[in-house]
Amino acid sequence: MPNHLFHAIRAALPGQDAVFIETQDGRVWTYGDMLGQSARIAHVLTERGVQPGDRVAVQVEKSAESLMLYLACVRCGAVYLPLNTGYTVAELDYFFNDAKPAVIVVSPQNADRLAETVKGCGAVLETLDDHGGGSLMESARAAATDFDDVERGPDDLAAILYTSGTTGRSKGAMLSHDNLLSNALTLRESWRFTAQDRLIHALPIFHTHGLFVATNVILVSGASMFLLPKFDADAIVARLPKSSVLMGVPTFYVRLAQDDRVNHDSTANMRLFISGSAPLLAETHDTFRARTGHAILERYGMTETNMNTSNPYDGDRIAGTVGFPLPGVDIRVVDMENGAALPAGETGMLEVRGPNVFKGYWNMPEKTKAEFRDDGFFITGDLGLIDERGYVHIVGRGKDLVISGGYNIYPKEIESEIDLIDGVLESAVIGVPHADFGEGVTAVVVPKTGAALKEDEILAALGERLARYKLPKRVLFVEELPRNTMGKVQKNLLREAWKDLYA
Ligand code: ATP
Ligand code: MG
Repeated sequence: MPNHLFHAIRAALPGQDAVFIETQDGRVWTYGDMLGQSARIAHVLTERGVQPGDRVAVQVEKSAESLMLYLACVRCGAVYLPLNTGYTVAELDYFFNDAKPAVIVVSPQNADRLAETVKGCGAVLETLDDHGGGSLMESARAAATDFDDVERGPDDLAAILYTSGTTGRSKGAMLSHDNLLSNALTLRESWRFTAQDRLIHALPIFHTHGLFVATNVILVSGASMFLLPKFDADAIVARLPKSSVLMGVPTFYVRLAQDDRVNHDSTANMRLFISGSAPLLAETHDTFRARTGHAILERYGMTETNMNTSNPYDGDRIAGTVGFPLPGVDIRVVDMENGAALPAGETGMLEVRGPNVFKGYWNMPEKTKAEFRDDGFFITGDLGLIDERGYVHIVGRGKDLVISGGYNIYPKEIESEIDLIDGVLESAVIGVPHADFGEGVTAVVVPKTGAALKEDEILAALGERLARYKLPKRVLFVEELPRNTMGKVQKNLLREAWKDLYA
């Protein structure tokens, strides 16, 4: 039995000298370097006692070396467990004790502060900085550049990835070799990746988007990527003429669509702009298209499921939808109350089944059981519909649904109406406790710079367009909406901030 994921990566190798990664400071890693470095790190991990199935927890800045560490884990059969660089020591304590890693790799500047915690959970501590410094690479330099990949089957774990924590505490999703490989191969075909592609990679690599969608798709295509530490409009603009694909979260595109340097000429070499992780506003899609001629391709996925749907490569990419189920992925919409399948056009809970769907939540057997149906469908927690043409629309999260006076109110419907009002930049509609209605519909609005918006004017405008029961009871103004690193609006923080509004 080969190593399921790495065997496929080897099969796609474009040649030892082909470029895999280039960084902003001009450093280059060929595919040959990738093989050599990941082998060296795999030796170090094995020497530190890592056995197949052991977790290797990693909280480091984005770098080419950190991707080599991911691949080293795959090759030595370890379970790669990347952690958000924003987590504090107290939060890390929870994750380390939850995952019980054999090795923990952190940034050198955090090593002292974490030493106690790491010792406490019985792990070996290694360091890695964003320029290849630290104890891990020091040891790696002395190790051999070939390594016998440890045998791993399709169902063996390759990673535990914690969810973004948008709706509560992050959960560790257990992802198998085949969860990752099947999705990477499907996306390669759906998005037509070849060894000629050059991806601009500006996403964090502790989430499924930057780690698996971006990196694995490039690897199984034998393509290359330009690795940026984070979103940087100047660096992206400079790189557009030498690149073919950009993967981004909606906030990337909001910013690029306002940048005069992003136009038909500068994007002439690009073949594809992909968006995901949070909803892309139709307005952003339209502005970007008018400016560049490119229709952004929006797709939908989750940590637990990898990618589920995508707008088509050929054919209409419809703004405000996330496209069709990917080949091999089943999606259905069911009634939230009784689980019955709903016909086209009706809104309900999205459920998904396929080789992409994870093996369960780490250390949470009860939660895992509760989120799967008997026939293998995973309950995503997202509300949506499938229209007559088969396009999937995400309507919002089940947890964000507002129930007021016994009516189900979908925030997105109201947000879309508010966003059409002159002077509104964006909005978030939430439900907060209300003695009479259970929850009171509440609109949180961000005005455009210089716009003078009034609560009663917004309510009057909405009164003409929405049924009475959907109308916000209050409209509140803020300078910006709280967002996490993936650009997701954190409605739980808004609900918390305004929980006494109707008390
Ligand atoms: P947590 O599960 O911890 O609350 P999270 O759901 O934000 O956090 P992720 O797994 O990173 O963690 O995000 C998956 C979610 O992101 C999906 O369930 C969906 O709500 C949202 N999402 C992803 N892509 C899109 C998209 N194109 N349009 C709308 N929502 C999207
Ligand atoms: Mg989630």
